[in-house]
Amino acid sequence: MIKSKQLKKPQLVLIVDDQEINRDVLGMILEDDYDILYASNGREALQMIEEYRDSLSVVLLDLIMPEMDGFKVLDCVRNDDLLKAIPIIVLTAERNAELKALEMGAADFITKPFDMHEVILARVGRIIELSEGRQLIQAAEFDSLTKLYSRNFFFEYANRIHQYHPNWHMDAIVINIEQFHSVNALNGREFGDRVLAAIGDGIRGFLADTEGIASRFEADRFEIFCQHPDDYQALLDRLQDEVNALSINASIRLRMGVAPWRRDVEPVLLFDSARAACSMVRGNYKTRLMVYDEEMHQRELMDQRLLNDLRRAVEERELTVFYQPKYNVQCDPPKLCSAEALIRWKHPELGMVPPGRFIPLFEGNGQISAVDSFVWNEAARQIAEWREKFRITLPVSVNLSRVDVFDPTLEARLEGLIERYGLEHRALKLEVTESAYTDNAEQMIELINRLRAKGFEIEMDDFGSGYSSLNMLSYMPIDVLKMDMQFVRNITQSEKDFKLVELVLDIARYLKVPVVAEGVETEAQLSMLKGAGCDLVQGYYFSRPLPPEEFESLIVKEQQIERENGV
Ligand code: C2E
Ligand code: MG
Ligand code: MG
Repeated sequence: MIKSKQLKKPQLVLIVDDQEINRDVLGMILEDDYDILYASNGREALQMIEEYRDSLSVVLLDLIMPEMDGFKVLDCVRNDDLLKAIPIIVLTAERNAELKALEMGAADFITKPFDMHEVILARVGRIIELSEGRQLIQAAEFDSLTKLYSRNFFFEYANRIHQYHPNWHMDAIVINIEQFHSVNALNGREFGDRVLAAIGDGIRGFLADTEGIASRFEADRFEIFCQHPDDYQALLDRLQDEVNALSINASIRLRMGVAPWRRDVEPVLLFDSARAACSMVRGNYKTRLMVYDEEMHQRELMDQRLLNDLRRAVEERELTVFYQPKYNVQCDPPKLCSAEALIRWKHPELGMVPPGRFIPLFEGNGQISAVDSFVWNEAARQIAEWREKFRITLPVSVNLSRVDVFDPTLEARLEGLIERYGLEHRALKLEVTESAYTDNAEQMIELINRLRAKGFEIEMDDFGSGYSSLNMLSYMPIDVLKMDMQFVRNITQSEKDFKLVELVLDIARYLKVPVVAEGVETEAQLSMLKGAGCDLVQGYYFSRPLPPEEFESLIVKEQQIERENGV
C-alpha cells in the first residue's frame, strides 16, 4: 500500500550542527518522515537556506558553532524578507540561550542531549504545520499579483477601522481600467498582468504617505479605503503615469470614482457609492474622475424607484409605443416607407420618462426582456392593424437590446409574433446598435445570421458611435445602416462633419446597404444628405415619434399623395 506521505512531496529539513554525532542522531530521528540536508557551521547553513529557500520547511539550528554561530544565522534570516518565513528551531544545552533565541525569532527549541525521539518529531511536525498554515493565510490575505489585500480581508479590515475609529474621515475610492478585456485581447494576458501589478505598485506608493488600505477587488477593480487625500486627481494621475510608463503604444485609460466619508455610513455602502461614481465615468472622454455627490445620490434613488415601478407600469399600461416615420428621400416628394417603434413611459407621478433614462437600468437587471417583448408585440399587432385598416403593410422596426442577444428564447419569441399576426418577416425589422455588435461580436453574428436566414432584416443602429473597424464591418451581417445622429447634427456648419457623413455613405456603398440618417431636423440638413446620396431619413424634420392614432394621419396623407399622383 502507498503510504499517504508518499503521495505528497516530502518536506525538507536542514540540520545545522558542528558536531557530527548530533547531526547523525537528529538525522536518524527524522529521516523516515522528511528529506534531510546537513550543514556543519553557520556560514554553510546560510548558503543552503538561501539556495533552498523555496522548499525548506524548517531549519534545526545549533547555537554554538565555529565560524558563524547560530545567533548570527538567526539574525540574518530574520532580517531577510525572502527568508524570514522559514521557521527555525534552535538546538541548545543552555537554558538561558533558549530565551534569547526565542526573542530573536526562533520558532521553538530542542534541548540537548536529545532524548525523547517522539518529542522531537512532534515539535518539528508541529512547527511545520503552524508555518504552513500561516503561509496559507498570507496567500489568502494578499493578492499575489499586486500585493494588495484580497477582498475578504480588505473588507474585514475596513469594517474594523470603521468600527473602532468612527471619527476617522476615511474615503472610499474605486479604480477601474477602461475596456480591460480589450487591453488583454490586444496585448496579451501577460501584459495585462503587468498593468495590474503597476497599478498595485502605484497604490502601495500612495499608501506609504497616506493612512489606508487597498485591495484588488476583482479582475481590474481596485478599491482604496484611506484618509481623505488632498487631491484625488493627483492620485489618478500618479497611477495613470505608472501605467503609461509600461508602454507608449497601448493606450490604457483608468477611471476613478470616489465616495467621501459620511458619518455612520458603513464601508460596504460607501464603496457602492464609489463604484456608482466610477461607472459614470465609463465612456466619458472629458473626465476620468467622479466624486459621488448629492445629485448622484438622488439619481440612484430615482433609479431604484424606476426599477421598482416597472412591474406596475407594465400591468397598468403606463408603457406605450410611439412611432417615428422613415422617409425615402430619393423620391419626390419623399415617400413614407417604414417606421421605428420607440417606447414611452408615462409615469403617474414623474410624467414622461425618456427611454434613455430607463432602458439602461433594465438592461442592467434583466428586466429589459419584458419591456422589449411588450414593444415587439405592440409593433407586430400595430402592423397587422394598419394592414387591415389601410390595406398596406408598413414595416416597423423594433430595437433589440444588447442583452436580448443572450436570451435563448429570443428567436422563438420573434417567430411567434410573425405567426400570431400573420406577418411577413420583412415587416418586422430589427435594430441592433453598433456597440452591441462589437461587445459580443461572435454571438451577435451567429444570432443575426440565424435571424436573417429566417427572413428578418437587420438594421445597424447608431452607426459611427461604436468601434467597429472596416474589416469587422465586412463580415457583420446587416441589411441597413443607421447613421448616428451626431454626424447629422452639425453638417451644415462643419465641413469636417459633412466629410464624415460622406465617409459613412461610402462605407454603406461598399457594404451594398442603404443608409438611414437619424436626427434630421432641418431642410438644410435634408438637402445636404439627399445630395450626398443618402436614401432614407428619420427625424423631427418629418415628424417626432407619434402615438399610433396620430401616426395614422401620416399614412392617410401618404395615401392621398399616392392617389393624386395616380399611383
Ligand atoms: P434610437 O433607437 O437610436 O432611436 C432614435 C432616437 O432619436 C429616439 O429617441 C428618437 O426620439 C430620437 N430622435 C429622432 N429624431 C430626432 C431628431 O430629429 N432630433 C433629435 N434630437 N432626436 C431625434 P428616444 O425615443 O428617446 O429613444 C432613445 C433610445 O432608447 C433609442 O435610440 C433606443 O436605443 C432606445 N429605445 C427606445 N425604445 C426602445 C425599446 O423599445 N427597446 C430598446 N431596447 N431600446 C429602446
Ligand atoms: Mg433604434
Ligand atoms: Mg439610433
